[in-house]
Amino acid sequence: MDNNYKQKIVQSVPQKGFFGHPKGLFTLFFTEFWERFSYYGMKALLLYYMYYSVSEGGLGLDKSTALAIMSIYGSLVYMSGIIGGWIADRLLGTSRTVFYGGVLIMLGHIVLALPSGTTALFVSMVLIVIGTGLLKPNVSSIVGDVYSEEDARRDSGFSIFYMGINAGALIAPLIVGTIGQEYNFHLGFGIAAIGMFIGLAVFVATKKKNLGLAGTYVANPLAPEEKKKVFTRIGLAVALIAGLGTAGIVTGTLTIDRFVTLVSILGIVIPAMYFIVMYRSEKTTDVERSRLLAYIPLFIAAMMFWAIQEQGSNILALYADERVQLQFAGIELKSSWFQTLNPLFIVTLAPVFAWLWMKLGKRQPSTAKKFSLGLFFAGLSFLVMIFPAYLNGTDSLASPLWLVLSFFLVVLGELCLSPVGLAATTKLAPSAFSAQTMSLWFLTNASAQAINAKIVGYYTEETEIVYFGIIGGAAILLGILLFLLSPKIQKMMKGVN
Ligand code: GLU
Ligand code: ASP
Repeated sequence: MDNNYKQKIVQSVPQKGFFGHPKGLFTLFFTEFWERFSYYGMKALLLYYMYYSVSEGGLGLDKSTALAIMSIYGSLVYMSGIIGGWIADRLLGTSRTVFYGGVLIMLGHIVLALPSGTTALFVSMVLIVIGTGLLKPNVSSIVGDVYSEEDARRDSGFSIFYMGINAGALIAPLIVGTIGQEYNFHLGFGIAAIGMFIGLAVFVATKKKNLGLAGTYVANPLAPEEKKKVFTRIGLAVALIAGLGTAGIVTGTLTIDRFVTLVSILGIVIPAMYFIVMYRSEKTTDVERSRLLAYIPLFIAAMMFWAIQEQGSNILALYADERVQLQFAGIELKSSWFQTLNPLFIVTLAPVFAWLWMKLGKRQPSTAKKFSLGLFFAGLSFLVMIFPAYLNGTDSLASPLWLVLSFFLVVLGELCLSPVGLAATTKLAPSAFSAQTMSLWFLTNASAQAINAKIVGYYTEETEIVYFGIIGGAAILLGILLFLLSPKIQKMMKGVN
């Protein structure tokens, strides 16, 4: 979009009114707060809902299937950002796309809130996968639109937004998790639906006043003559996928196992295609090509990091429910509450890290070094989980403090990697593809979870030590490798740091 129009957008947003930030940030903060509340609230219950027996209110799936489904679901939720980016870019603009996304997500939670079985679960998943793909990357990219390019508040705006995400994720397990585990899973999912409804209401009620023109712009609209062709192709593709899917299910060829394999392959193929297309595009300059190559090791590191971080809501959630002494200091803990630890540590430590980077100024580690720190802490967070079984075996329950320590360590890594990675992605992606950079970053997480789906099945009490040991060790090794390569990577980044 041309600069004049960018300025017009910024001028249409009241530039003060939310902690010294543009008023638009209020709308985006609370929309995303409530969306994440619904997502992480649902996620805190979902694993238990899937493998608890029918008499306990669950679906009675076997554990390793439930773990794999969690990963595939998490992967698709972030993979679908590609669709959301495309729809915003070419058809609706970000703001309207966010709205439709929110509606689909809310419907998804409502389906889960109704007391029905496995089919309802899959319907809900489809709605939430598409809905989140429409909402999440786009609400994040509107944050970038409410500041002018030179605005010094920009970075801190993103940090405040990240706090909103985690504040939503923090209270969700305590409310949705508690109600779901204390009373009834469906009631819990119902609260998640109400959360998304509040998010939508905030968005609709305040967007005109606070966001002005931000998000209304369609960056690269489909020309009317293109429309017919593109829609026909999309229609055919959707029909083909639906047809093959139905045929697969009816004939029994499309098993959950095969679906898992399919998504795992997509998790590798999609980012690889992204890189190839960007690298070979005529619009990409030589400097940008070098930056793209530098981005590849960072992408792989981020994948490894999210592979561990995201197991917090499946492997560690299972661990919390089965391996942890939940009677602690006179209270009866709920396993879903452990999901609150990651966002709690993020919210408390994010300001400390912001201060640290500022204090270090020019002496702070380079992006690649921060990524290797991220991997190092993620690796440690798994290695400490060896101890309970190593010290006391798997017959006695572990202290909940081990999990607290593990979540604490992974968050140290997350704060070195996640905000930095998002910023680096926007700077390293070729400018012709800048609109898609949010989705590119979320692909690091999508690919990680796609691969997790293949890995999580190896976790059992018997394999616990080896499982945490190998994955934790691999992350640390990769971290060391990245550290050694970091001067070279930094050079290839051509001035971006
Ligand atoms: N946990 C964060 C969120 O839900 C970040 C996910 C990511 O960047 O992959 O927004
Ligand atoms: N830290 C994650 C993210 O930033 C939230 C979570 O895992 O609960 O949103």
